[in-house]
Amino acid sequence: MPVEDKPLDPGDKAYRPAKTEVLIVHRQVRIGYKKSYGGMSPYIKGIMGGGDARLLYTVCENAGGHDRGGILRFQVPRADCPECYGRTRWEQLPDGARFYVNTLSTAVELAGISFMDQLPVTVAWISAVLPGPEGAELDTLTAGMVRVEDYTRLKKGDELRPVFRHSPRASASDAMWVLKGTPKEGWPEGYVQSKNYRV
Ligand SMILES: [Zn+2]
Repeated sequence: MPVEDKPLDPGDKAYRPAKTEVLIVHRQVRIGYKKSYGGMSPYIKGIMGGGDARLLYTVCENAGGHDRGGILRFQVPRADCPECYGRTRWEQLPDGARFYVNTLSTAVELAGISFMDQLPVTVAWISAVLPGPEGAELDTLTAGMVRVEDYTRLKKGDELRPVFRHSPRASASDAMWVLKGTPKEGWPEGYVQSKNYRV
C-alpha cells in the first residue's frame, strides 16, 4: 500500500482552528484490491459499451410474492428481488424509455475515486418509464451522475438521456446523464452517445 506524505500548505484552512503548533501532512494512499460486481456484473458490462452501451434492468414477475402485488422492475438492477427473494430476470431498457428527474440530491460534490479528475459531479435521482401504452414506471430510482453545471439548471420533471464513457473504467460512472437534446459540445468530456439511446 504505497503512502506518500507531503507537508500541507501553511495557508490551508485546515490550520485555522489550531491554538497550538501543529503539523499537518497531505497523505496520498493507493490501495489495490480485487473488486467483484457479483450479481450486478451484467449492468456494469452494459454501460461499458461506449457507442454500443446498453442500460439493463431486472424484473421480478412473482406478483403474488410482493407486498402490494404486481411485477417489480429494478434500475439500478437487483439480482435478487428484495420482496420475494427470488432471482430476477434481466431486460434492456429500449431507446423509447423516458427518464425524468425525480429528486435532486443535496450532495453537491460527490466524491469518487474512479472519477476524481472529473469532479465536481453530482447526483440526480431519475425515474425511468417504459414505452408503450402501459408506460410502466420502474419501481426504483436510478442515481444518475450529472455535471454540476447541469445540476444547477435541472428541475424536477426534466427529461434526461444517458451518455457513456468512450473508454470505460468498469465503474458506475461509465454512465452519466444530460438534458434531453443537449448538443454534443455539452456532454461530459470523454462521453459519447450510445446507438441504443439517442440524446
Ligand atoms: Zn419478487
